[in-house]
Amino acid sequence: PNTPLFSNAISYAQQQKGPAIDDIRVDKSFSYSELVSATCLLREKLLDNKEDLKEQRVAILCPSGFAYVVAQWAVWAAGGVAVPLCTTHPLPEQLYTIQDSQATLIIGHPAFSARVNELTNETVDISTITIDDQELLEWGKMAIDAETFDIDLERRAMILYTSGTTGKPKGVVTTHKNIDAQASTLVEAWYWSETDRIHHILPLHHVHGIINALTCPLYIGATVEMYQKFDGKQVWDRWLSSAPPFPVTYSPDEDDYAEKQRKQEQHAASRPRLSIFMSVPTVYAKLIKQYRSYTKEQQTEYSNACRQFRFMVSGSASLPTPLRDTWRKLSNGQVLLERYGMTEIGMALSQYYPVSERVEGTVGFPLNDVDVRLMAETEEGSGEFDKDVTDLRGIPGMVQVKGPNVFKEYWQRPEATEKEFTKDNWFITGDYGMRTGQQGYFRILGRASVDIIKTGGEKVSALEIERELLSASLGIHDVAVVGLPDPEWGQRVAAVVVLDDDKSLDVATMRKVMKDRLAVYKVPQLLEIVSELPKNAMGKVTKKALVKLFEDKQ
Ligand code: ATP
Ligand code: MG
Repeated sequence: PNTPLFSNAISYAQQQKGPAIDDIRVDKSFSYSELVSATCLLREKLLDNKEDLKEQRVAILCPSGFAYVVAQWAVWAAGGVAVPLCTTHPLPEQLYTIQDSQATLIIGHPAFSARVNELTNETVDISTITIDDQELLEWGKMAIDAETFDIDLERRAMILYTSGTTGKPKGVVTTHKNIDAQASTLVEAWYWSETDRIHHILPLHHVHGIINALTCPLYIGATVEMYQKFDGKQVWDRWLSSAPPFPVTYSPDEDDYAEKQRKQEQHAASRPRLSIFMSVPTVYAKLIKQYRSYTKEQQTEYSNACRQFRFMVSGSASLPTPLRDTWRKLSNGQVLLERYGMTEIGMALSQYYPVSERVEGTVGFPLNDVDVRLMAETEEGSGEFDKDVTDLRGIPGMVQVKGPNVFKEYWQRPEATEKEFTKDNWFITGDYGMRTGQQGYFRILGRASVDIIKTGGEKVSALEIERELLSASLGIHDVAVVGLPDPEWGQRVAAVVVLDDDKSLDVATMRKVMKDRLAVYKVPQLLEIVSELPKNAMGKVTKKALVKLFEDKQ
């Protein structure tokens, strides 16, 4: 049998569907037939007369685009395990990934040839296959009889490394079945169809970029427009280039009416329309900043351009309310669709598709085939999470997940794998959540290790405090709330903030304002103003580094 992803792609190829990938770097569109042909030919090269790669780990260092997808698919088709490297990571981090996963082969692209050399020089027993753009083009054009590979769904397919927000990144092993479940449930929940075109600017070494934004569209026969990296100006200009015509508000009396109209018609015609965009909160913040640098007239055009999207997603970290509200205003009513997931499980919770169901501060409900429960400690501090509070409201519990989406294991860390599963085989996410409102929308309260602060016998959610600080008109641009060890309180709540340009803030003012919004034990006792928060590649604040910042000061 084949994986649904591949059998779908083969049938899209036979039906001449496409484009599958619009590769912006090489400025070329690739059909499903080109994708399947190139995959088959690279597969043969990888196999080199062997039957099967037998779960050999193959690292991928290719630019985001056709080359990358062909590399990944060929590894899968050959029975290998794909290990995507982060293209922007420094050498030591890429080496960590290669050595930890025990990869014995790198599929490299000439764009990274210097780095591939460094990696192979530093690693014993590793070989390289280079795929260049010309070769890929030719492979794509060859008429390949779409053979059906035999892929065992239970076999290991990929090792993705966690973001490293709370420690050293861990290698998360998923099987073909896991990947299939992770993609198909989102395809269903978000009504993906072959007419969709996604604007893809995410890195390809995390589920957000690789599953949600890449595998979903290829699963359903849609088009992925792939960019190397995020660039705010490029994003806005791309949206403008396929903006739907808008009710022209220019008056024919205006001197430059004809010119404006011509410009607009030209825009509307120049590129295929987009329907989906996915990103993380910090990227939306950057897009807002870019938008604000435009003139009023330009802003009207850019806002209109947002109308082409069917939906826009935010995830990987909690979406601050002011960001959500600002985006809604400037984007002609796009309410960001928020979802919750992690490397180990793909997505587990998502807001429902209808805009009215995208309730602020919540991540909706479990996706189809994914079971989610909230477990509390029967006895505070016992470490035994055996009280099921899923059906209650307002009671925090540890988020636990079960389903075909849940990963197989941490690579070569059997103790870690065992520790993260309950006896009845639920995966312990490490995040706290609770249900709110009559319908019981799920709300994420944060990580047990850094976001749940225990102060004076109370448990408080850093995410809730961050949300309030940002909403309080204190001139706070960005914030992270952390708990600092304290002999008297257990932990003390501290806020680390980045202020808006030319704003100032002191502890007394912050506390005064926050006391009207939060119970007093939640109000931060300490305030630290910084120019930037430490964040990792996915835009997540590395809170352990912040705690250290305070400790070093004492
Ligand atoms: P590491 O496991 O190495 O510490 P990480 O947990 O950040 O890193 P990921 O798997 O990329 O690595 O991220 C998953 C985490 O991101 C979740 O456990 C959760 O804490 C957070 N997260 C994801 N989506 C949301 C969301 N919508 N709201 C709040 N937090 C979210
Ligand atoms: Mg994690």
